[in-house]
Amino acid sequence: MRAMAIGLAAAGLAVAAAAAPRPNVVVIVADDLGYADVGFHGCRDIPTPHLDRLAASGTRFTSGYVSHSFCSPTRAGLMTGRYQQRFGHETNPAFLPNDTSVGLPAGEITIADLMTKAGYATGFVGKWHLGAAAPFHPLDRGFQEMYGFLGGGHQYLPELLTGTAEYTVPLMRNRETVKETEYLTTAFGREAAAFVGRHKGHPFFLYLAFNAPHTPLQAPEAAIAKLAGIADEKRRVYGAMIAVMDDAIGRVLGALREAGVENNTLVFFLSDNGGPTSVTHCRNDPLKGAKGQTYEGGIRVPFLASWPGRLPAGVTYDRPVVSLDILPTAVALAGVELPKDRPIDGVNLMPFLLGEAKGAPHEVLFWRQNGNAPWAVRSGDDKLVMVQNGTAVEHYDLAKDIGEAAPLGDTAGGRVKALVAKFEAWNAQLIAPKWQSPGSGKKKAAEGKRK
Ligand code: CA
Repeated sequence: MRAMAIGLAAAGLAVAAAAAPRPNVVVIVADDLGYADVGFHGCRDIPTPHLDRLAASGTRFTSGYVSHSFCSPTRAGLMTGRYQQRFGHETNPAFLPNDTSVGLPAGEITIADLMTKAGYATGFVGKWHLGAAAPFHPLDRGFQEMYGFLGGGHQYLPELLTGTAEYTVPLMRNRETVKETEYLTTAFGREAAAFVGRHKGHPFFLYLAFNAPHTPLQAPEAAIAKLAGIADEKRRVYGAMIAVMDDAIGRVLGALREAGVENNTLVFFLSDNGGPTSVTHCRNDPLKGAKGQTYEGGIRVPFLASWPGRLPAGVTYDRPVVSLDILPTAVALAGVELPKDRPIDGVNLMPFLLGEAKGAPHEVLFWRQNGNAPWAVRSGDDKLVMVQNGTAVEHYDLAKDIGEAAPLGDTAGGRVKALVAKFEAWNAQLIAPKWQSPGSGKKKAAEGKRK
């Protein structure tokens, strides 16, 4: 009887597994996209119809955060599900193809490692920015396929390959260099759609990291011409870059539909940090601040999850979530365990999005830059921002003041002390940055000149 019962239980599991095949997971990241520059956040001058449809088909996070206010550290957190300051990945790596000390540390386990372990096909398309030397190559970090570049940015127009090595090196398909002839964002959409087509019969994980709409501001003439109504030239080109990215995302969504896997694919979309308003004339309103800062404008981003077959459509989720949550969510769906030998800071969001778990995914979220400051902490609607090392903190109630316009002025009060204590307990678990930002030497020199 006992053997039979076990046999039946095993059969039951097999039936359940057949009824609910493991979903594909697609993570789409934009680079330096302004909070207000998508239609689903109310943008009117830049068209994002595919993203708007994607948002309408799933859950839009109104308090969706990234774990850093600029490029590479956010990606290190996303890849590992861990606060990147735990392993010293706190600044951008310089583009150093021969320096094995500057990149996502070899001891870190990536989302692609875990999805590969789960038997998924894993692909990366786009901007890597997690180290340019051999040990950091995507194919050595869990991805089975790649198409893209290893640095922090790249020229978009194939006829305009002038400038630094980082921005002009040939694209790579796996470990081989290739000559790309299309506008880069369009090429990334093409490659991502092809990956979907190649792997449609098998669970897959796709990480599509556009460098758009990061500088350099370059877009196809036809795309710029469509936005002739935008008087500001920088914003017109920036907007065209977003419109082309939206087209590329539409192509990937179309590939999912054509492959018949749309209802069995979880798609995340987010920006890697807030918009650099003064650089590209992007907009983060109603948020204060920009890329590089721990005000909301640097860290709260357009962020959504869509899975038509499983998640409700057209809803918002207001509790804070963070890019670190993508790894635990994907890994749980793929059916493998999280590493147990290290803290994983992200949370599996599925029970929260399905209404099965009560409460919030995170009691508290933290940010820290430069090994010290600026830093920030959010717990509930309470937010504390340390803008500069050594100056007073600012306390905001985000429920009443999402724009962080008026600090509460109670910096000696109990709520502030409690937030500082939470930050200090977290900060004590971190290590110093393993390398300096490539711009820090120049910045220091410029500061010296000003004095
Ligand atoms: Ca960025």
